[in-house]
Amino acid sequence: MEFKLSEDLIAIKEMARAFSEDELMPNASEWDEKELFPVEKLKKSAELGMAAIYVDEKFGGTGLNRLAAALIFEELSRGCVSTSAFLSIHNMVAWMIDSHGTDKIRKKYIPKLSSMEWVSSYCLTESGSGSDAAALKTTARKKGNSHYVVNGSKSFISGGPTSDVYAVMCRTGDNSSNGISCLLIEKGTKGLSFGKKEKKLGWNSQHTSSINFDNCEVPLDNLVGNEGDGFKLAMKGLDGGRVNIAACSIGGANLAIESALDYTSERKQFGKYLNEFQVTQFKLADMATNLEASKLMVYKAASSIDNKDKNATSQCAMAKRFATDTCFQICDEALQIHGGYGYLKDFPLERLIRDLRVHKILEGTNEIMRLIISRNLIKKSRD
Ligand SMILES: Cc1cc2nc3c(=O)[nH]c(=O)nc-3n(C[C@H](O)[C@H](O)[C@H](O)COP(=O)(O)OP(=O)(O)OC[C@H]3O[C@@H](n4cnc5c(N)ncnc54)[C@H](O)[C@@H]3O)c2cc1C
Repeated sequence: MEFKLSEDLIAIKEMARAFSEDELMPNASEWDEKELFPVEKLKKSAELGMAAIYVDEKFGGTGLNRLAAALIFEELSRGCVSTSAFLSIHNMVAWMIDSHGTDKIRKKYIPKLSSMEWVSSYCLTESGSGSDAAALKTTARKKGNSHYVVNGSKSFISGGPTSDVYAVMCRTGDNSSNGISCLLIEKGTKGLSFGKKEKKLGWNSQHTSSINFDNCEVPLDNLVGNEGDGFKLAMKGLDGGRVNIAACSIGGANLAIESALDYTSERKQFGKYLNEFQVTQFKLADMATNLEASKLMVYKAASSIDNKDKNATSQCAMAKRFATDTCFQICDEALQIHGGYGYLKDFPLERLIRDLRVHKILEGTNEIMRLIISRNLIKKSRD
């Protein structure tokens, strides 16, 4: 077991940290306040290889592994959680196309996605099917030998109208999870429309909206994988997505602890610096310990995907559940340590709490993570 990062991984982490501090951190508060989607900054991140991190180099991906991606998202989210989390979804779609698409669609989409000339969204959730994602109702029916005709609607889509291509899970077969396929639908397709921009607690630097498909004609070539593979592909994508979202929680918690360390060394009450009170010292110690535990779980889960470990799905679910819960608590404790000032927008704590809160809900809620973990535990005990 190796607990030391290689020279290459250290260099990658430092590159992401520098980008995050220069390009994201100074703007995160304004993007949150004004609900601005920083697409130009995302394109700059793409120039450094951060838009298709674990995509094969053949068509323009960066060709790194999942551990490298986790380290990158940890650093980026220290600068802006919301923007980094969006980039993680874009990376997930790029990987789905690269790993399961034909050479024809890889060649068409990967160069555009890796440069972020095109931005992508992942479309699984519907109004009637969230946790029970396999119950989705959007249909894709074949029309002749050239097209599918897609009808239905997706909810809560990160990116919404600001994206250029959508990986849409739709029903091409029976009502089971084997009846679901993944289609790429481009913006501008006739019959594609968007709902209102959702007003959210956090993740304000990215749009969220519903997407509607009204007799959208989509070329048969835009099928990713085989017909019926869509649900498995969507779930495989989410294994990595969960690691990345957990890494985004770690970055946020890192910043919260840094802020708490600074603040408690400057603020005096009762004639003492806050960090001279043992209660504060113990809080800081617990926060740092919990952050370390989150990092270990996330790095292990990332490596389990890299190593094609048969328990990878459980490892990813455990890391996502633990890190997103724990890092949210760290941010809450850091806010408490800042007293009333932590509640003000002068400090990043209130934004971190708003941004990290949704990580306990999306890419599978933390209750669904427990279902996945327990299901695998029980199955293993029977084998
Ligand atoms: C800001 C934001 C961005 C999002 N982005 C995307 C996106 O880009 N693409 C996309 O496809 N989706 C996206 N989602 C959707 C997200 O993945 C879903 O909200 C999530 O999966 C939960 O589904 P739901 O909201 O329908 O909740 P429900 O499934 O209705 O769950 C409600 C509650 O019941 C619990 N619950 C449900 N079933 C069980 C069970 N069997 N056992 C125990 N508890 C259970 C849940 O844990 C939850 O607490 C996004 C959501 C948000 C808020």
